[in-house]
Amino acid sequence: MTQPNVGIAGAGLAGRLLAWRLARAGCRVSLFDAKRRDALDTASQTAAAMLSPLAELAVSDDEVFELGQRSLTLWPQFLAQLATPVYFRQDGTVVVAHTQDGASLEHFSRLLHHKLPEASKAQVQTLDASALAQYEPTLAGRFGGGLFLAGEGQLANDQLMTALAIDIDRLGVQWHEDKAVEALTQTAIVCADEKHAFDVVVDARGVGSKSQLPTLRGVRGEVLRVACKSVTLQRPVRLMHPRYQLYVAPRPNGEFVVGATELESEDAGLVTVRSVLELASALHSLHPAFGEARVLRMSAALRPALDDHRPKVERRDGVWHINGLYRHGYLCAPALVDDLVGKLLYDD
Ligand SMILES: Cc1cc2nc3c(=O)[nH]c(=O)nc-3n(C[C@H](O)[C@H](O)[C@H](O)COP(=O)(O)OP(=O)(O)OC[C@H]3O[C@@H](n4cnc5c(N)ncnc54)[C@H](O)[C@@H]3O)c2cc1C
Repeated sequence: MTQPNVGIAGAGLAGRLLAWRLARAGCRVSLFDAKRRDALDTASQTAAAMLSPLAELAVSDDEVFELGQRSLTLWPQFLAQLATPVYFRQDGTVVVAHTQDGASLEHFSRLLHHKLPEASKAQVQTLDASALAQYEPTLAGRFGGGLFLAGEGQLANDQLMTALAIDIDRLGVQWHEDKAVEALTQTAIVCADEKHAFDVVVDARGVGSKSQLPTLRGVRGEVLRVACKSVTLQRPVRLMHPRYQLYVAPRPNGEFVVGATELESEDAGLVTVRSVLELASALHSLHPAFGEARVLRMSAALRPALDDHRPKVERRDGVWHINGLYRHGYLCAPALVDDLVGKLLYDD
């Protein structure tokens, strides 16, 4: 069977992962992006890439949870097929709160218990102070206890985006960088004065698809990246707070990602002082040794969100869309892309 010639608009996480899967399946693929492949100001490059179906259930629903659980089994398979190694860990998450914020942790725990399917409830374990110290020795004596969310993971999104780009090139995908897509139809992608013809067209432009998806909006998020040799964490730690939930995720070479703010705003401009204060204070309150951490980068980007905050794979006027990944792109992308590949290649 001849595989289709596919044009994909948008080379973020969704577009790259789809291009890679389709090219591996023998399709001719062309990828278009308004930016260069190493641009850092997209959601995919800014994200913390926590793979947290349990913790995110507090702010999402069964569908995201199920996509997340499926994706956690797919990520290791996908990463094993990439030529370049990508940092991936699945050692669970620790959740803590300072004494004065104990009610937030209590509420979070009850919410998870209420929303989790029966079969997954055992993944949430209550830790007393000594159990917490065993999971995270660095936090010993700093918190009276917490929660352990078994099976959750994280990956280094910068490494993943680079690894996908390398494989996409090797597989012969035509990558049109710096090419803003102005229009798409069932069989064509138009940029500036060029019109490219395809058998199948997919729109994966994140917030760039607003003209096609009227209910799509951008939700601003900011993260801080630091290096700190004097603190070691075994796994991501979530810090509950009455106003916001923040997490600190360890990365290779003594680096940490601290995230993330969430603001109902489509301003994708530089990180604000208020957000730096919130992220840095949370980090410092987790362990004072973070006071000497070196700031590597502060970034802001827009999460593409639909009204119900669920990701969507759908066909509109002949064009396929993968969008609305919101704060769950890394959590859900493998399962979503798998579903879309199935529809494009195997459905009648
Ligand atoms: C601060 C922050 C923290 C996050 N943390 C997590 C997390 O811990 N876990 C998790 O699962 N998710 C997280 N996310 C969410 C995740 O990053 C997104 O859901 C995901 O990256 C969306 O991917 P995308 O490919 O749909 O969109 P994008 O990354 O926005 O990619 C869209 C691409 O389309 C291109 N484009 C736009 N317009 C055009 C055009 N006209 N023509 C051509 N190209 C165009 C853009 O240049 C871009 O490359 C976070 C997001 C943010 C901002």
